[in-house]
Amino acid sequence: MSTAGQVIRCKAAVAWEAGKPLSIETIEVAPPQKHEVRIKILFTALCHTDIYYWECKGYTPLFPRILGHEASGIVESVGEGVTDLQPGDHVLPIFTGECKECKHCLSEESNNMCDLLRINCDRGVMLADGKTRFSINGQPIYHFVGTSTFSQYTVVHVGQVAKINPNAPLDKVCPISCGICTGFGATVNVAKPKKGQTVAIFGLGAVGLAAAEGARVCGASRIIAVDLNPKRFEEAKKFGITEFVNPNDYNKPVQEVIVEMTGGGVDRSVECTGSVQAMISAFECVHDGWGVCVLVGVPKIDDAFKTHPMNLLSERTLKGAFYGNYKPRTDIPLVVDKYLNKELGLDMDKFITHSVPFAEINKAFDLMLKGIGLRCMIHLDA
Ligand code: NAD
Ligand code: ZN
Repeated sequence: MSTAGQVIRCKAAVAWEAGKPLSIETIEVAPPQKHEVRIKILFTALCHTDIYYWECKGYTPLFPRILGHEASGIVESVGEGVTDLQPGDHVLPIFTGECKECKHCLSEESNNMCDLLRINCDRGVMLADGKTRFSINGQPIYHFVGTSTFSQYTVVHVGQVAKINPNAPLDKVCPISCGICTGFGATVNVAKPKKGQTVAIFGLGAVGLAAAEGARVCGASRIIAVDLNPKRFEEAKKFGITEFVNPNDYNKPVQEVIVEMTGGGVDRSVECTGSVQAMISAFECVHDGWGVCVLVGVPKIDDAFKTHPMNLLSERTLKGAFYGNYKPRTDIPLVVDKYLNKELGLDMDKFITHSVPFAEINKAFDLMLKGIGLRCMIHLDA
């Protein structure tokens, strides 16, 4: 029996307060409104950005809230004006959107800074009416980055939904919706190392390792990985990294260590930590004359990037990349097809190190807080 147009009661993991374990609740999910899609989420994983907004250190607190943005699912119903999706479509919700109409979406020079649907971490409501689609006994529960995937059903703006090949295994392609594309794209679309070049990767979570995979696929000769957590090095050995550097093992800045190791600096660096110190090191370790550094990590709210302007004048390039420079609706279906055709060069299994039933979602938080494993797949139907 179709549930279209009706309120759906289902389970969701609700964050009631900053830093407190999520609690599994029965919630009500309203039908999608104009330009919205209701999605049955089957798999979701945890990315560090969820942790930032759950801990809420320095960010505007917005609770109760349903977090989550790395996920895969199936369209349950669509709202008015949605013409390119229908019930049964396999989809990835994406935390940043593509309206296909604004100045950014139409620009050949901009990829994913959509004026309408660019990521917004502070808005907890839907654009159509400024209200939430989630509630518990009439109490509104806020959304997160327009996706809120820690729920068996969620409502998302159509511009934040990538329709993918139905043959793609939804558990495997789930991390493509955030971590994989963010890291991999930062390297292959933005840093663009040439064959034989050297690349430094800062931060060995799923985002950094996806960036390292990008370097391997581009044919980098040396991939130097930097992390403060030695446990990450074991996991990272499966990813074609050639050297590991722990800044804590040296009594000088890590950029100096890398410059010495490489006779002047790496050709490319990609920062995937969220630490402003690592961002500065990542920039200062690229070779003068041609080196390119790409920042990916989300900094703290009051961080400031400080480097001597001479580092730029000596022909180093500093860039930032958002969602790997991919257009969510246009590019992601193609990325999934490439993955299916084994043209992407990525083995998704290496990234999915743990899995838990929905009821144990807090374990995924513990693992990430302890820096254990990469992605923990949360099974919403289990
Ligand atoms: P993660 O916590 O799994 O990995 C981060 C790693 O960085 C950890 O292994 C940690 O030990 C390491 N690290 C922290 N400080 C460091 C330092 N000073 N030097 C070296 N290593 C350091 O996180 P993740 O899920 O892989 O996400 C990585 C970053 O990417 C986060 O900041 C996240 O918010 C950000 N992110 C950005 C985008 C985007 O579009 N730009 C999208 C998703 C995630
Ligand atoms: Zn747009």
